[in-house]
Amino acid sequence: MALPDLTKRLLIMNVARLTTRRAWQARGVNSTATASASDERARAVSLDARDPLAGFRSRFLIPDDDLIYLDGNSLGRLPASTPGRVAQVLTEQWGDRLIRSWEDGWLELPSVVGDRLGTGLLGARPGETIVCDTVTTNLFKLLHAAYDLRPERSIVVADRADFPTDRYVATEVARQRGGAVAWLGPMTPGATRASGLRVGDVLPRLHDAVAVVVLSVVDYRTAAIADVRGITAAVHEVGALALWDCSHAVGAIPLDLPAAGVDLAVGCSYKYLNGGPGAPAWLWVNQGLHGELGTPSIPGWLGRADAFAMGPEYQPASGVRRFVTGTTSPIGMTCVDEGVALVRDAGVARIRAKSELLTAYAIDLVDSWLAPLGVRLGSPRAATERGSHVSVHHPDAKALSTALADRSVVTDYRTPDGIRLGLSPLTTRFTDVHDAVLALRGLLAPG
Ligand SMILES: *Cc1c(COP(=O)(O)O)cnc(C)c1O
Repeated sequence: MALPDLTKRLLIMNVARLTTRRAWQARGVNSTATASASDERARAVSLDARDPLAGFRSRFLIPDDDLIYLDGNSLGRLPASTPGRVAQVLTEQWGDRLIRSWEDGWLELPSVVGDRLGTGLLGARPGETIVCDTVTTNLFKLLHAAYDLRPERSIVVADRADFPTDRYVATEVARQRGGAVAWLGPMTPGATRASGLRVGDVLPRLHDAVAVVVLSVVDYRTAAIADVRGITAAVHEVGALALWDCSHAVGAIPLDLPAAGVDLAVGCSYKYLNGGPGAPAWLWVNQGLHGELGTPSIPGWLGRADAFAMGPEYQPASGVRRFVTGTTSPIGMTCVDEGVALVRDAGVARIRAKSELLTAYAIDLVDSWLAPLGVRLGSPRAATERGSHVSVHHPDAKALSTALADRSVVTDYRTPDGIRLGLSPLTTRFTDVHDAVLALRGLLAPG
């Protein structure tokens, strides 16, 4: 698998950087394994040396350089510029300007940050994206909006393998609207999608009573990428709307929602966008639908036209602005803004290119080191068909994930037998991938 001559040369060239090898030796790797592994580590070192995004790691606050953090798909790292900007919001804006800060710009943040996110990362046109609330709340609002746009229809199509919140909200909104969910599947509990959703998976559920199809672009467990464009076109064939959850996609893979014909979308800001824990999420509505939107399911005062008129009845603000419910924290909004700025600086195309290499490298090592020890790959093998994490399966996944954490390798366990290795292109190094898989091998074949 490795190129022996090249790796030897690089081993000599990069001998200084190999001092961190002590860190992975300390992760419980035996000496014979270490000998064969050092060539492989040199390969990882050389991949890092040639990585055009390597410099972005220094734009994050990383207090422990030896911690291998492979969970950026659940909670991205802290951009180095965020604490300073948040401090400014706290002291200069809140502290000094107090209530006047709303007029100074806070009120516009949902749209301003939304447009930066949307135009930079979603292919959106200005005025289509807002940052507010959680993905859960935004899904609720947009599913109701979809029912309002298709009042004579009763069915939501959703995926049994989707993230819990998407399944729960689809079920509840369908119930509230006197309809039902038509599930893609059937899937036995715990079963995962090894390949991304295709038109053929959705077609059997599509007919003229379907109001909306809600699916995730990237499967949260296996990282399999759905055929957004093809499925959206098929959904339109029966007159229904397509709502895509981009939580595991935004900031990791290129998205062009208008070009794909998507109607509605939601997504998360604290994963690959590094907006921080509980950062406000976003929602997007194709401008072609703005004229048909009605009263949102949560008609909040800040989503009202002329909010400060404090009018007797709700009148929707124009466009997506109506989906702003109440007051969203300018602090969280600022965190999202910084995370989005970093991703825009790096460029989604370069992020995607590195992501494909990182996941391919991880799969390479899983194949040669872990497959013989009973580990099964859960993610698609074709780079173009997977997002930025790799899932592996083993009956002892839970204990293994805990043991890895004890060795400063942070992954996450997904019931019943999965471990996700989240590879965030702006901060994850090839050596991190190497060291983590080696540590896992050390756990499975100790001594
Ligand atoms: C992370 C994630 C969410 C998170 O929802 P919140 O309400 O913001 O906590 C929702 N859906 C998917 C697919 C996700 O990956």
